[in-house]
Amino acid sequence: MKLVENRGGERYGKTLVGGHLINGRTVGENSKERFQSLNPAWTSDVVADFPQGGAKEVAQACDAAKAAFAKWKSTPAPVRGEIIGKIGALIREQKEFLSRLLTREIGKPLREARGEVQEAIDTAAFFQSEGRRLYGQTVPSELRNKALETHRRPVGVCGLITAGNFPFAVPSWKIIPALICGNTVVWKPSEDAPATAFAFANIFKAAGLPDGVVNVVYGTGAVTGQAIIDAIDKGLINKISFTGSTEIGRKIGEVAGRNLQIPSLELGGKNPMIVMDDADIDLAVTGAIWSAYGTGGQRCTSLGNLILHKKIADKFLNKFVPKAKSLIIGDPTFNEGITYGPLIADRFLKRYLAHHKMAKKSKTAECILEGARVKKGAEPQGFCGDASKGLFVTPSLYDKVLITDEFAQTEVFGPTIGVIRVEDFDEAIAAANGTKYGLSSSIYTDNAKLRLRFKNEITAGMSSINNSTTGAEAHLPFGGNGWSGNGTRESGIWVVDAYTKWHAINTDDSGGLQLAQMDTEEVHGEGAADLDGLMA
Ligand code: NAD
Repeated sequence: MKLVENRGGERYGKTLVGGHLINGRTVGENSKERFQSLNPAWTSDVVADFPQGGAKEVAQACDAAKAAFAKWKSTPAPVRGEIIGKIGALIREQKEFLSRLLTREIGKPLREARGEVQEAIDTAAFFQSEGRRLYGQTVPSELRNKALETHRRPVGVCGLITAGNFPFAVPSWKIIPALICGNTVVWKPSEDAPATAFAFANIFKAAGLPDGVVNVVYGTGAVTGQAIIDAIDKGLINKISFTGSTEIGRKIGEVAGRNLQIPSLELGGKNPMIVMDDADIDLAVTGAIWSAYGTGGQRCTSLGNLILHKKIADKFLNKFVPKAKSLIIGDPTFNEGITYGPLIADRFLKRYLAHHKMAKKSKTAECILEGARVKKGAEPQGFCGDASKGLFVTPSLYDKVLITDEFAQTEVFGPTIGVIRVEDFDEAIAAANGTKYGLSSSIYTDNAKLRLRFKNEITAGMSSINNSTTGAEAHLPFGGNGWSGNGTRESGIWVVDAYTKWHAINTDDSGGLQLAQMDTEEVHGEGAADLDGLMA
């Protein structure tokens, strides 16, 4: 690893030149095939310069992970937990540094970056103690002198692919539980955030994790990500866990399926928020603003479809639109007070600018806020940064969208929402469930009956009542249904199911061969069922 001069971005720091982490060694630092991560608030700031891993590096990393597996899985789980605890402590020690690096690399406001790093600390704290549980069960046998029990066993080498919008928290959701369960890891971080991943990898090393237990191969999706997928077919990976777009997730699901593996797929969303006519409008407006435009709409749980009861729709928008217009956009490294920073990468900017074409296909939709790239000399009020240097955009809003519109059915992954006006709760819940996605959802109402109906009828994996569509805690399951995921969950005890397989054991101390069902004692009841009448 070295830090080199960063012409064009000196005020942000130097450029990190790093390499893959394979079997405890940094490799590929001098490789010619490389890619760079740029600070999206100031794109001439080259944050990191990394080698692009291919099939060779992925195979080496898988071999290292396989070789390390036997020893790591037999390390007592509470001892594995101690290392996880150390990882958490090191992250805590470096929280400010990591948050600032994350902000520089993906443009997330510092307050959110600190929250993201905190989520990894919380995850480590939770799973350190899971090392002292990882409970199996004792199960009664139907035969005498026979004991039944279950144990969780690790799955083996886990291939992990993660997205760039949560480059620290989401990898921690996968790596930490995989490790506590006794698995070893080959991680392909997002090409948007290799420096953040490199810092994380260094913490694993510093915490005393044995060589080969966590390996990191950097690169783009098309090359390195594809090499990870190919490694499933080659039998080098026993479990794949992916966070990213639905398109790539479906592809991974197909490959895992033909190898009879259960993948963990955490994918996109078009998340609905319902605001009923009895809602506290100011509270709902605040929640909707954050859900729609916080993080520049670049959360998988960001609001997509805002479903307003017709009676309050105008009142709601009269409060919402001025707030959306006055959001503070800017460079997060030097301005702590911004609402959101730049879009993470150029491909997100292109997709955001192109979404208007899709929204305008609607026969009914009316454009209220035509979000556009911020131009030098025409910056919105309060803007802080250099518009000509970064990937900054203003928020977008379409009213009178129909749930059947392509815009209402498609994740944009930027600060844009569509308003769908409805007559009543039945229409609202139909719209909320009216996309193929099913990640997050929210309702604003104080009506207890409607809250109950919402809880029972919404098909998303996560729901908020009188709160935003976003947010996660280390001990609550996170994940979606339909096109948002295959039903596996991250976080909390539920993720342990993703990284272990059950082992059922029976011990027979009877001294003979006893066969279940055949040698089981028969129980004869006193009465007799008279079934003759049934046939009459
Ligand atoms: P993406 O699918 O393009 O990339 C995600 C990861 O997959 C990256 O590491 C990328 O390099 C890799 N990748 C890309 N193409 C690949 C290929 N052909 N083969 C193998 N790997 C490949 O996603 P993105 O656009 O960078 O990220 C945004 C998406 O991630 C959004 O859809 C968002 O909703 C989703 N996301 C979901 C969650 C969740 O928990 N459900 C969390 C964060 C982001």
